[in-house]
Amino acid sequence: MGGEHIKKASILSIGNELLNGRTVDTNAAYIAGRLRAINLTVVSVHSVPDEVDAIERALALATGEADVVVATGGLGPTDDDLTRQAFAGFLGVELVLHPDLLAKVKEFFDRRRIEMPARNEIQACIPQGAAALENEMGTAPGIQAKKGGKLLFAMPGVPAEMRHMLDTLVVPELRPLVTGQAIVVRRLKCFGAGESKIAELIGDAMQRGRNPLVNCTVQTGVITLEIVATAPGRTEAEKMAEQEEGSLRKILGTLVYGTDDQGLAEVVGEGLAWMGRTVAVAESCTGGLLAKLITDVPGSSRYFTHGWITYSNDAKSCELDVPTDMIEKYGAVSEQVAGAMAQGARRKAGTDYAIAITGIAGPGGGTEQKPVGLVYISVDSRSGTDTSRHVFSFDRSSVRLRAAQTSLNILRLKLDLTGQPHI
Ligand code: AMP
Ligand code: MG
Repeated sequence: MGGEHIKKASILSIGNELLNGRTVDTNAAYIAGRLRAINLTVVSVHSVPDEVDAIERALALATGEADVVVATGGLGPTDDDLTRQAFAGFLGVELVLHPDLLAKVKEFFDRRRIEMPARNEIQACIPQGAAALENEMGTAPGIQAKKGGKLLFAMPGVPAEMRHMLDTLVVPELRPLVTGQAIVVRRLKCFGAGESKIAELIGDAMQRGRNPLVNCTVQTGVITLEIVATAPGRTEAEKMAEQEEGSLRKILGTLVYGTDDQGLAEVVGEGLAWMGRTVAVAESCTGGLLAKLITDVPGSSRYFTHGWITYSNDAKSCELDVPTDMIEKYGAVSEQVAGAMAQGARRKAGTDYAIAITGIAGPGGGTEQKPVGLVYISVDSRSGTDTSRHVFSFDRSSVRLRAAQTSLNILRLKLDLTGQPHI
């Protein structure tokens, strides 16, 4: 199928279940990732119900803004699956029964020794002039059509069927048609400042319409800056992305902890392994979460030796030698106790570093002086004990996660990772 200089794509997700909150549109996310990988810019995702009019309207909108429309859903045999009919309507043609497709649908049932229900016959119907896309995983063939120079694809909604059809038929069809455009994406992971602080630091880099485009997302305290460079050729796009990465790194300094999908624990772990150093943890309010994050990383036994969950006062003094009178005088959530926990843990574990966390995760237990969310984090090492005070917000799980991540970030900043190959 012809089509020159295809650059933009629109995704059309069809199905009532997508609009009533019952099904998350994972298909659109998958398609978007695959299209970007072949240098197509996804300009929109439209979600519409199983209604012929709505689908036709969306097709008109999508073809108005993109060169290719990739639709998913609504190809089933039931009355609520109307994508075929809508495609025929939009193309201004009739649906035609294809005997060869019907034979394939029948064969699908024959292999299972089930008689084909009559209503499955509709799945052998394709708009006149359009081509069928074979479905190796189910009964519903896909559709490939063309209107006014725009390419249209319809695929089933069942995620496994859709993915297979996209990867084996649609992407190979589109890949050679995308010419004169390369998209290079880089992601910088940041921790230690909020979104607005980062936006302020990087100035107009996030302005829309800019190339490279910089997108910012935030998840549990981790800020991801995505650099999207678009250029006629790959080398040029790579160079643009690299330059942008360099200038963002220069501005953000140590706020950038890694790239792509790296987590803080992974980066800290690689740093420790690289330096041949070890760490132990002593946790109160995080109840083992920090140890979990550290040991989630494969190979963490190279640097992680011990973890204590000293939840009660007794546990803090018995296990980590925190003086009982210190706990009585300052309270379990205090700078002094956090420091003593870290020192006790490092002494007992014999590690290069020990991290201690003590705080009030909530929802109860807060006072005016010691509010919910108050957390002391201490890192003990040969060069001394550093303890810091934090007040984290939202609910119990956010406070705990933020405390664990912040402690990892504090250790990261203590390690001099300059020249470390993994970040
Ligand atoms: P359909 O091809 O419309 O009959 O869809 C079959 C099933 O696939 C639906 O019942 C949903 O469970 C699932 N599905 C449809 N569309 C999507 C989508 N966009 N993302 C994830 N799952 C979907
Ligand atoms: Mg459906």
